[in-house]
Amino acid sequence: MLYPSAPEADLHVHTVASGHAYSTIGEIALEAARKGVKMVGMTDHGPGLPGGPHSYHFAALRFVPETLHGVRILRGIEANILGVGQLDLEEALLERLDLVMAGFHEDCGFDDRGEAENTRALLALMEHPRVKVIAHPGNPNFPLDYEAVVCKGAETRTALEINNSSFCISRRGSSGNCREIIRLCARHGAPVTVGSDAHIAQGVGEFDDALMELGAVGVKWEQVVNRSTDSALEFLGLPR
Ligand SMILES: [Zn+2]
Ligand SMILES: [Zn+2]
Repeated sequence: MLYPSAPEADLHVHTVASGHAYSTIGEIALEAARKGVKMVGMTDHGPGLPGGPHSYHFAALRFVPETLHGVRILRGIEANILGVGQLDLEEALLERLDLVMAGFHEDCGFDDRGEAENTRALLALMEHPRVKVIAHPGNPNFPLDYEAVVCKGAETRTALEINNSSFCISRRGSSGNCREIIRLCARHGAPVTVGSDAHIAQGVGEFDDALMELGAVGVKWEQVVNRSTDSALEFLGLPR
């Protein structure tokens, strides 16, 4: 299956605030504009990741304009899962953000606890009304019951991210897991996002590997919530 266009929104991008990424939000927006990407989710790592931003970073995101170089900027976070239903940013700050992604990362206080425990922690967060996207669920370092996770995504309308970097740059060994997740998403109709997970401006809007895998399994274009700015805003419950 070929999709009608490239997704308009990239909902997973890191700035220098993450501590191990290399571009400012201004540089990222400029590159996004050059590539025709219309919306960017500024999703720096949560405070729990070593070298990550202080919670004040998320409290001060109001200083970031709604558009930069003509690109809509969503104020977000890639929060770290710390336990069952538990993230590394307080609820009052999560409430203020446009986009809350949650994901597993090592060295934040919740390393792999085995498939059953990992899945239990994640499923609880998928019930959280602010958590709209699960970052790179195919990470082989955190085994999950993919059937349960994808069914929960379909039930709670929490999108599962198919992370482009998982196929080429990061989290070696993800590809097979991502294909399994994609196959289950096609079967259960769960919402998905494609994200670049760019850690430098040049990576913004790079989705080719993820799109090829989604298309190969026949995930419907309507399931890809960041296909357009309108569909992404609607999914996130944000005004146009
Ligand atoms: Zn990172
Ligand atoms: Zn991540």
